[in-house]
Formats: sequence, structure tokens, C-alpha cells
Amino acid sequence: MKALVYHGKEDLRLEKRPVPSLGPGEVLLRVLRAGICGTDLRILHGAHRHYPPGVVRVPGHEVVGELAALGEGVSGWQVGQRVFVAPNTGCGHCRQCVSGNNNRCPDYCALGITIDGAFAEYVRIPAAALQQGNLIPLDETVDPAAAALIEPFACVLRGQDAVAVRAGDVVLIMGAGPIGILHTMLARVRGAARIIVSEVWGARLALAAAVGADRTVDVTQEDLRQLVLAESHGAGADVVIVAAPAEAAQQNALELAALGGRVNFFGGLPKDRSVVPLDTNLIHYKELLVTGTTACSTYDCWRAAALVRAGRIDLTRLVSGTYPLEQFAEAFAAAQQRSALKIVFDPTQ
Ligand SMILES: [Zn+2]
Ligand SMILES: [Zn+2]
Repeated sequence: MKALVYHGKEDLRLEKRPVPSLGPGEVLLRVLRAGICGTDLRILHGAHRHYPPGVVRVPGHEVVGELAALGEGVSGWQVGQRVFVAPNTGCGHCRQCVSGNNNRCPDYCALGITIDGAFAEYVRIPAAALQQGNLIPLDETVDPAAAALIEPFACVLRGQDAVAVRAGDVVLIMGAGPIGILHTMLARVRGAARIIVSEVWGARLALAAAVGADRTVDVTQEDLRQLVLAESHGAGADVVIVAAPAEAAQQNALELAALGGRVNFFGGLPKDRSVVPLDTNLIHYKELLVTGTTACSTYDCWRAAALVRAGRIDLTRLVSGTYPLEQFAEAFAAAQQRSALKIVFDPTQ
């Protein structure tokens, strides 16, 4: 089979590899679509902690496929069935796993992160993933390219759960990349009264407006603080979601939040820039709730998949390009562009 293999920093190679063989309890997935994530860009640039020098591995954790073979003892699944795969499995028995937060398991395993992933024609799904409910059935009616984005959408759902976005809230989303766009779509579904989306790259704001932002703000042209106050009758934002890797955005988030506001630091910062002076008096005197979320649990994926299957969220709008594995250089270059949203591989081409 064809597989895109990481050999080191900026060194991805398209190789012929044997189709993975299956152990008991495992399944083989024929990959229909696999999304390129910011995490994959970090991997490519040699900046991911699970890809230290010397690691040779197939990335790809945002995957939709159909079952191609079932290992010994697998029941309840059929060859040919279409599924989305929640990428993270935990040990299954620690405090985090038992509480449903397998993304926090210190022993977690993830497709395309700690084991071979989906930038290939086939991917082996470990037994633990089946036992822990990571395979999620999808109807054939769901666009597979869009369904490959269930994972980032599940991360967004987790972020909005942490700040309990609810009907009537004024929500400020800082960043209009793919994650900011997903936050905008979800805030709308959750009943936000006003959705304000800010961005330093103004060209990204058109899609934010198209998917439900009431007000978009190019922060290089307009005063964000004035706008947030104007849109919230002087109160500030009930919810601020920082979906941009910028220290200044994190600092401003505390300023822009209303009394009793809830803030989510959704995106991480580059590790050499993650020490940020924050005015903690704002947290204290405004009684802010400041949260962080990272990745998603399997249950987050179940709920995200349910919203996509039910047609509440149309992830198709986020797909800005589909590439065969052979064109991986073009695909990664496109994913790096600020004008692109999600780039997806189609290994069946
Ligand atoms: Zn991802
Ligand atoms: Zn665990």
C-alpha cells in the first residue's frame, strides 16, 4: 500500500509498505479521507514531542474509512461499514479514563501520534480502540471529507463545554482559522445571542460571517475593545474563546470578558513563548472563569459525530482542498497557507 512516512524534520516520504496484518481484536480500515491538522504541521516541522529524532511513523489522526478486514474475535462490525475513528485511547483504568477524559490519560495512545496513522491506504486500528468505543458508525450520506473533520470539531465542542456556551451569550472568538470557524458554527447551534469573530488576517473573516458571525473584526483595522463593548451593551463578552496562538490574544481575553465571564484558552502557544504576563486582578475582581482544553475525549467525538450525522453542523464548508497522497508536498503547502481551511487526503485516488 501507499503510505506517507515521517523520517525526520521536513522529511516526509511516500513509500510502498505492506498492508498491516491484524492481531486479535483489531480491524483494518481502508482510508477514505484523512485531514491535515495543525498538529501534523507541527510534526512535519519536527516540533512534536511524540515525534522525537529517530522516529519513523505514518501521521494522520483525522480519519474516515471503511472496514476492510476484521481481526479474530471482532464482532458487531461488518466489512464495508463506514466509520469515523476517535483517535485517542487511554489505558482504560486510570482516574482520567474512568472519568471519561481519556485525552488526559498519561498513558494515552493515538493514531498518527504514538502509532501509525491514516496518511496511507490502510490503517490498523488497535484492539483497545474497539474496546473503548473509538469506532463510530457513519451513514453513507455523510460527505467523508467533512466527516474527517469530526475530530477537530470534537475538540471545539470540548472547549465550549468548558465555558458552558449557552443561549443568549455574547461570544467572542479570537481567530478565524479552521478552529475559529468551527467555534462560530457551534456557538450558533448553542444559541449564542451575538457572535463576534476577530482575526489579524482579514481575508479569513468572510467565511466566519458566512457561517454565523454577527460581527467580524479585522483587528489591524478596528478597535476590538470598542466593538465588543458596543455589541454587548457595554458589558463585555460572556464567553471569550482564544483560538489563535498569540500571547496578546490571551491577555486581551481577560480584558474583553464581562463580569463573571468565561474564557477558554483553546490554542496552545509555541513552547518558547508560553510564559505570558496576565493581569490576575481581572480574574479576581471580575470573577472570571479561565479554562484550557486540549484534544478531545472519545465521548466528545461521539457527540460531535451525532451533530454531524443529524445535519446540525455542515463541516463540508471547511474543506478547501482534497489531494491524493502523491501530492503530499502540495497538500502540506496548501495546509500551511492562511487562506486555506482544512486540507484532506484522499488515499483512494
Ligand atoms: Zn487534529
Ligand atoms: Zn488512563
